[in-house]
Amino acid sequence: MKVHLTTLGCPKNQVDSELMLGMLGEAGFPLAERAEDAECLIVNTCAFIDRAREESVQTILDLAQLKERGSARALIVTGCLTQRYGGDILQEMPEVDGILGTSDLHRIVDLVKQAAGRHDWATSAPPGYLYDATTPRLLTGRVPYAYVKIAEGCDMGCTFCAIPQFRGRHRSRPLADVVAEVDGLAKRGVQEAVLVSQDTLAYGKDLAGNGDIGDLLLALSDTRMPWIRPMYLHPAHVNDRLVDKWARARVVPYVDMPVQHADDGILRSMRRAVTARRMKDVVAQLRAAIPGVTMRTTVLVGFPGETDEAFARLLDFVDDVRFERLGVFTYSPEEGTPSVTFADAVPSEVAAERAALVQETQDRVAFERQDALVGTVHDVLVDGRSEDRAFAFEARTAGQAPEIDGVVYLRGRFTPGRFARVRITEAQGYELVGERE
Ligand code: SF4
Repeated sequence: MKVHLTTLGCPKNQVDSELMLGMLGEAGFPLAERAEDAECLIVNTCAFIDRAREESVQTILDLAQLKERGSARALIVTGCLTQRYGGDILQEMPEVDGILGTSDLHRIVDLVKQAAGRHDWATSAPPGYLYDATTPRLLTGRVPYAYVKIAEGCDMGCTFCAIPQFRGRHRSRPLADVVAEVDGLAKRGVQEAVLVSQDTLAYGKDLAGNGDIGDLLLALSDTRMPWIRPMYLHPAHVNDRLVDKWARARVVPYVDMPVQHADDGILRSMRRAVTARRMKDVVAQLRAAIPGVTMRTTVLVGFPGETDEAFARLLDFVDDVRFERLGVFTYSPEEGTPSVTFADAVPSEVAAERAALVQETQDRVAFERQDALVGTVHDVLVDGRSEDRAFAFEARTAGQAPEIDGVVYLRGRFTPGRFARVRITEAQGYELVGERE
């Protein structure tokens, strides 16, 4: 039975998809590149916010049509949407033959084997599964980087976030197992390991031995992986011991630290366990400890109770700290989270205006920083052919994370998947242009 898998959502989902494809490949199921050619369709869904849920449902409906007019005989839905709403999906979408949550990924092989059957084999166990380095994994991207999930779940309990409800409590993979996976990826030619989890700096807190993410980064420094990039760093977990280990570890000089807000009242109500003052100190400490560091953050505007004054404090913070990169989101009330009951909702048009103001401030800061890069020389990783027809290839500096930051468009000939030394010749908004040095 030929299988096709569609992945929606974040890099953590992409890892799950690659593991499922690896397990299916090992079990002897051929993979179809196009959904139209498959007999079994799998869609790995996202349920992070309303928009993601809508996209997931629409994808399920689109794929379901292939069961009527294509070669598909079965449709299996996996991921966060089924972890959260499994029963409802089976009841309300008869076109779905089976479901699997974010746990028990290996059950995908049984599900596909039984794909001629129907609903009685659906499974959505409580979240618990975490893969290990021996789990087969098919790398789906034609890119030189791979995501490595070092932990799963989150204990932080931010009042706007539904993730802990369906990804469960925080649990870390054993250090040696992550090291083995990263080593294995390096042997397969991967040039960059992007370390992901819901709460990356909480890594190790649940393992014996009082270890932390710093120990993992130091151990990974001894692997052959050229670039190691940890993502999603909660500022509340930063301490001197961690900064010291981070500075000694061989990781790219890049810090992705979502601050979410900078008004202490809102931070308290979001339950972020950190103050604006403390976050400023953390940023200053990291900038001092990691020469040439690029800092990325995320902010959330329109949270209930965000007054004009509270928003002004956030805007000042963004202007003051001058993050190199910033993503701004507007608050959306997520079912089952504490914040849906909070008073003083911010009208959506006000939230959108505030998001635009943050973006405007950030554009100014970011474009100045981009312009300052013109004339500088960098080692870049060539991701592959360029999507922009004006250039043949595109690459990234250590300060550009895959898929969320800009790229360096390259003039001239380069080899995909290799590093090259280039001089930046131009800045075009959030993108750069470079040529061989
Ligand atoms: S730390 Fe991140 S994943 Fe955890 S509850 Fe907060 S926003 Fe959600």
